[in-house]
Amino acid sequence: MDNLEDYYVGRGCKCYARSEGECACGVDWTPKEVYVLEAKVKELTEQLKTAKIDAVNEFAFYITAVNSKNRGLISIAEMYCKGLANE
Ligand SMILES: [Zn+2]
Repeated sequence: MDNLEDYYVGRGCKCYARSEGECACGVDWTPKEVYVLEAKVKELTEQLKTAKIDAVNEFAFYITAVNSKNRGLISIAEMYCKGLANE
């Protein structure tokens, strides 16, 4: 849905139908809320992904700073965090 602001149920209907069942135009009768929520889910998914990457970077920075001598532990932590970020 590109232009949600202009969207309304049954937009473009020319047969004076009041619902999808009556309509013969083949236009979209999806409730606007579906598109609003779909856009919100997409937005929140992106925010979550960014938050995860930030958390991973912060954790990696912290563990590197705290334990710069223990490369083995850092590698394990980094692998674990990369796995989390890709979920
Ligand atoms: Zn129609």
